[in-house]
Amino acid sequence: MDLKGKKVLVVGLGKSGLAAALFLRRRGAQVTVSDVRSAEALANDIPSLLEEGVMVETGGHGLLTFRRQDLIVVSPGVPLETPELVQARKFGLPVIGELELAARFLRGRVLAITGSNGKTTTTALVGEILKQAGLATLVGGNIGVPVVALIEESSDQTWSVLEVSSFQLESTELFHPAIAVILNITPDHLDRHGTFENYARAKERIFAAQTSEDCLVLNADNTPAASAAVRTAASVYWFSVEHPVDQGAWLEQGFVVCRISRDAAVETIMPLSAIPLKGSHNVENVLAAVCAARLAGAGAESIAQTIRNFHAVEHRLEYVATHNGVEFYNDSKATNVDATAKAIAAFSGGVHLILGGKDKNSDYTQLADLLRERVSAVYTIGAAAAKIESHLRGIVSLHSCETLEKAVNAAFAAARPGEVVLLAPACSSFDQFENYEHRGRVFKQLVNECRNWKV
Ligand code: ADP
Repeated sequence: MDLKGKKVLVVGLGKSGLAAALFLRRRGAQVTVSDVRSAEALANDIPSLLEEGVMVETGGHGLLTFRRQDLIVVSPGVPLETPELVQARKFGLPVIGELELAARFLRGRVLAITGSNGKTTTTALVGEILKQAGLATLVGGNIGVPVVALIEESSDQTWSVLEVSSFQLESTELFHPAIAVILNITPDHLDRHGTFENYARAKERIFAAQTSEDCLVLNADNTPAASAAVRTAASVYWFSVEHPVDQGAWLEQGFVVCRISRDAAVETIMPLSAIPLKGSHNVENVLAAVCAARLAGAGAESIAQTIRNFHAVEHRLEYVATHNGVEFYNDSKATNVDATAKAIAAFSGGVHLILGGKDKNSDYTQLADLLRERVSAVYTIGAAAAKIESHLRGIVSLHSCETLEKAVNAAFAAARPGEVVLLAPACSSFDQFENYEHRGRVFKQLVNECRNWKV
């Protein structure tokens, strides 16, 4: 793909939009960026773009801006149904995402990880394992570094370990991982994808360009993810916490084991008890990582060593502190019902759970059994509070707190020594916070302030 002199429009100036614009410019394209946000809101990024000779349109999309282009690169935050993009596609303009753009230039092989939950944890873990195993490894995608930013560093020897979301996958065509992983598919982002079916199909684009030479790692215990096996051309590998699989990773008598082809011997990787991450969902992530890393060529010994030393990624069931015998956990990244369910299930009981934020068209009644079994009380915050309370009334003791500060204080006041205060809100954060990281940081700060409480 020759970009020299081509007119390219980048829609949406997020982290990846910014990186895409600068990459395209460096490759000689005439680049325009268009964002609906105001110039003030984008003040941090505009100067560096102008300096590089990128044209910037703010405060809305001009229809003409979308016509005079050879290519449109759309950020994952911008829905493909945006009228201007629908119009552009009607005029025959190619519309691709940053991931697809990067895939066309990235050298070496790609190991891509998607799923509703566990992507960041598994991507970080696989990246670390491959690095420790001495393989040339780059880590990027949704996890922080945009994929286009990896291009310059990539070589024919590189493994690019990429976290990819359904939004990024929606607009892929040639994106072709040598190893693809689908961790799980559970309801999320239904506000944007409309139906569960559409959402699942977007995730399955991860293997659309794969051939029989490639590997697809699937969760045998999650029906929507497992069902992809009948629609792929790739060789399928499995992971399961419930039963042995013909090829892949599973648990046997308290050990993580792996077999990378049907005729190979079963290899023992490590005891289950040596996994330092909390919760059975993290065992799933570890099994997926073991299988993918083994397929990429890492040895069993070095895989085990790296897992033993791996710590929870910030805001993912992260231990914060213990005050007056009460433990505090920050799972601000639990932005959907399934992640919250997994977080509750990681504790045997006595959980004081903070729920709420911006609703994503979720069904909170799915938490009912776990709430009855393990949760002492729920403290609601944010815009979704009324809906959550109406779903959970009669199931668990409910406290309307409105703000995170009131919720932390109320939960700490009620919790007894040996119990847990857990932020796992099952909602996104945008009603009261900049993002889930901001919410998690505020929570940790509030927890720190509890240290000064006298009982
Ligand atoms: P993602 O990048 O897919 O959002 P993260 O690793 O950031 O995944 O974790 C997101 C949330 O989901 C966190 O609350 C985490 O504790 C929870 N989680 C992690 N792995 C899983 C899993 N395999 N199944 C369900 N929930 C998970």
